[in-house]
Amino acid sequence: MTRAILAIDVGETRTMACAFSATDEVLFQKLVASDLTSRANAFQAMTDLIDEAQQVKELDITAIAVDAVGQVNPASGTWFGMSSLIKDNIPLAAMLQERYQLPCFALNKVYAAAFAELTHGIGQESQNFVYLDVATHIAGRVVNHGRIINGTHQYAGEFGHTVVDFNSPIQCTCGRYGCVETFASATGMSNVAKRLIDQGERTVLQVDDTGCVTMKQIMSALSDGDAVAEMVVEQASRGIATLIANLIRAINPAAVVVGGYVVENSTFALRVTDHLDPEAMRLVDDGVTRTKLDWRLMAALGAVTYAQQQLRQ
Ligand SMILES: [Zn+2]
Repeated sequence: MTRAILAIDVGETRTMACAFSATDEVLFQKLVASDLTSRANAFQAMTDLIDEAQQVKELDITAIAVDAVGQVNPASGTWFGMSSLIKDNIPLAAMLQERYQLPCFALNKVYAAAFAELTHGIGQESQNFVYLDVATHIAGRVVNHGRIINGTHQYAGEFGHTVVDFNSPIQCTCGRYGCVETFASATGMSNVAKRLIDQGERTVLQVDDTGCVTMKQIMSALSDGDAVAEMVVEQASRGIATLIANLIRAINPAAVVVGGYVVENSTFALRVTDHLDPEAMRLVDDGVTRTKLDWRLMAALGAVTYAQQQLRQ
């Protein structure tokens, strides 16, 4: 039997169980579709995955660490609202601890990714950096002298709600207009593409069965010279670059590290680099780089490393 800590990585679209050994080797991994429509469904999905991992004969699970979307207080393990519709607070770590009689932890997914960056990534070179995650949504964390700034209500790092366009007609989920997330996240790009399709622009892009225009579709159309894909990617990459320059000016980090499946696309990442403001870049010693960690695993790795650190204290 190999001792392992089990991460349950709860995203908007998928929930993953991932068991790591003490040397960060992945010993078990399973993905299911996320169901965040109710507290009971989300908890059930987590416990199903934990139960399955516990059945694996070679594994001795010694602790559980959940990293989830939404506000999470890592000190208490409380999950504040699972979605924009369900806002009740869940003592998640305590509920899991009672059920499994193991040390259990809960933290925000982007907080966990920033923790992985601190312990396994850029943190090995710098203790002052910004981690920016560009995926279904846009969020991140500021790491200042080795400490992740989490804010009064554990909601720091909502960089996606930075207004970069005063003239935008698109209202954000936060109620304002012109937030960078409304056009530069994967969801935002899909919405912009759909709006252009509705306006009758000539394009090969199509809305799929799930009601989205996927990132994959957009990047493929871009390489074929599609004008709508060009507009979508140009606006999004300019938005991300503007956000990065704003963060550099506001925070003065030594480095900015970007992660998430949107910037994982090299063509998109290059566009962002092209739009970075040279004057702002002069102020960031270690530059703007893509994470060297596996974006699929980094939040789970961060959650497990957080648990290891707590257990040592
Ligand atoms: Zn917003």
